[in-house]
Amino acid sequence: MPAPETLVGLGLGSNLGDAPGNIRHALAEIDSRGLAKIAAASKIYRTPPWGPVAQPPFANACALGLTTLAPYALLAALKELERAMGREASERWGPRLIDLDILFYGERSLDEPGLTLPHKHLFERAFVLIPLAEIAPDLHIAGRSVAKAAQAIDAAGVEIWPARD
Ligand code: AMP
Repeated sequence: MPAPETLVGLGLGSNLGDAPGNIRHALAEIDSRGLAKIAAASKIYRTPPWGPVAQPPFANACALGLTTLAPYALLAALKELERAMGREASERWGPRLIDLDILFYGERSLDEPGLTLPHKHLFERAFVLIPLAEIAPDLHIAGRSVAKAAQAIDAAGVEIWPARD
């Protein structure tokens, strides 16, 4: 019997090197490594850097995927992909080659030191909500409408990544 598939939301971010290229590469790797079958991917957005460290803008995107991996196995595989793509441990809020987050894992809720589901900051971050609402406006996460949350959040500076930049 085939392993059951779970719908997951993934958040991707990069602000080093070819940031949009890093996002596209990560999405292709997530699919080809069998971490999740990518069912939908948002456009790539350019978003202001956050946190106390001055740094370039971020490229951010969200994707929906179908996974047969359990939550911690998916997290471990995403971290391994971050490492394979050359992300090095650096200052907490500093620039990053690729950052991969699990936004939600089916209906699962989890609050453990290494993994929080849905993602702890999902509803606070325009750079997550705007791309997620593009591909899944009708989705409700933990009872909250993604479309409504995206409409309500301050999305100043969040724009589609220019075609040439
Ligand atoms: P980051 O700084 O974004 O790479 O995340 C740091 C840590 O957050 C990771 O090592 C994870 O253990 C933890 N974490 C907790 N919840 C999540 C989640 N939903 N998706 C990804 N990482 C998570």
